[in-house]
Amino acid sequence: MKCGYCNNNMMQGWIPTAAIEWVPNSGELKWLYDNQNRVNGFRLGKFHFFNKQRQKAWYCPICDLLLINCKEE
Ligand SMILES: [Zn+2]
Repeated sequence: MKCGYCNNNMMQGWIPTAAIEWVPNSGELKWLYDNQNRVNGFRLGKFHFFNKQRQKAWYCPICDLLLINCKEE
């Protein structure tokens, strides 16, 4: 995976998490998200601690940037 900013190779790794949420600037945190309409925000994984998973992510050490794969596996 190439970094979109500096075009160098990113390091593949993972983020240990029970849940990651993405919310647009115009949005709010929600208990339930419409997973068919992710532009209004979405959650990866579940809040429950024991559902902790490895969310695939790439890190660029030059830009100090993370790129997270939002697919649920
Ligand atoms: Zn970079």
